[in-house]
Amino acid sequence: FTLRENDDRLELFKDDPSDLGQAPSSHFTSILKSATDGYNLAWSGDICLEEVYFSYPMRDDVDVLNGLTLTLKCGHVTALVGPSGAGKSTIVQLLARFYEPTRGRITVAGEDVRIFDKRDWARVVSIVNQEPVLFSVSVGENIAYGLPDENVSKDDIVKAAKAANAHEFIISLPQGYETLVGERGSLLSGGRGRIAIARAILKNAPILILDEATSALDTVSERLVQEALEHLMKGRTTLVIAHRLSTVQNAHQIALCAEGKIAELGTHLELLERKGVYASLVGTQRLAFE
Ligand code: ATP
Repeated sequence: FTLRENDDRLELFKDDPSDLGQAPSSHFTSILKSATDGYNLAWSGDICLEEVYFSYPMRDDVDVLNGLTLTLKCGHVTALVGPSGAGKSTIVQLLARFYEPTRGRITVAGEDVRIFDKRDWARVVSIVNQEPVLFSVSVGENIAYGLPDENVSKDDIVKAAKAANAHEFIISLPQGYETLVGERGSLLSGGRGRIAIARAILKNAPILILDEATSALDTVSERLVQEALEHLMKGRTTLVIAHRLSTVQNAHQIALCAEGKIAELGTHLELLERKGVYASLVGTQRLAFE
């Protein structure tokens, strides 16, 4: 399938030339349109990992995911917790389509995600972590990184930075938005995280994958980052690898991943009542087994 512009509409076409001109699936047209025109509620697909098996290419004797099934409800936040090595980052890699499942499939609105061109898929997914890759360009350019220049105005960048609680610290830098970002670490880690959040707010993709910071920030930065994340997650289909109790408590559902499967699934209260692994994690405050 290919995404093409037709007048001002984005349409999805089958790659087979004999299919050109056929009406594209209106559902996917609306999904892609909402994703690329700016986010709106036309996006309506749940994302399902269906019986997903996966081994890394160099380690194909080891199943890292073992028939994992999980539904990410459209517009809801799913918090992923579990021991180190359980497969959390691997799930993220598959959702981002850096790898494909060995068996099983990932669907959106019931359709296999493989019908999307990978570049189109990259437009509908934002991945945010708190130690993001920043480039040796200005802070403003870092926020707009990856978006086509002609669509991004200075105003848009400032608006995104404000929504990410990053504006104040950016204007306190020597050259404000024009300040060059140097080596890793030249910005405080809370600042780096908020630039990544501003970037995702500007990109406005309907699917959000979040890897929460493990390192503690000072209380003020922590609160600012948390607020910015809440703003970013609102209404997006979010999967967050959660390290903080507050994030899991507020999630619509919590998925406990163990040995490449989802071992427990429910809300914070449901999982506490179940008195299983999640409950014992909360008891020891070692959510990510760190
Ligand atoms: P953590 O909380 O420590 O980040 P995780 O739950 O995210 O752990 P994964 O990083 O998904 O777990 O790892 C699952 C398993 O896959 C581990 O046994 C790990 O060693 C293995 N693994 C991860 N990345 C690769 C890779 N690129 N090649 C081969 N094996 C890998």
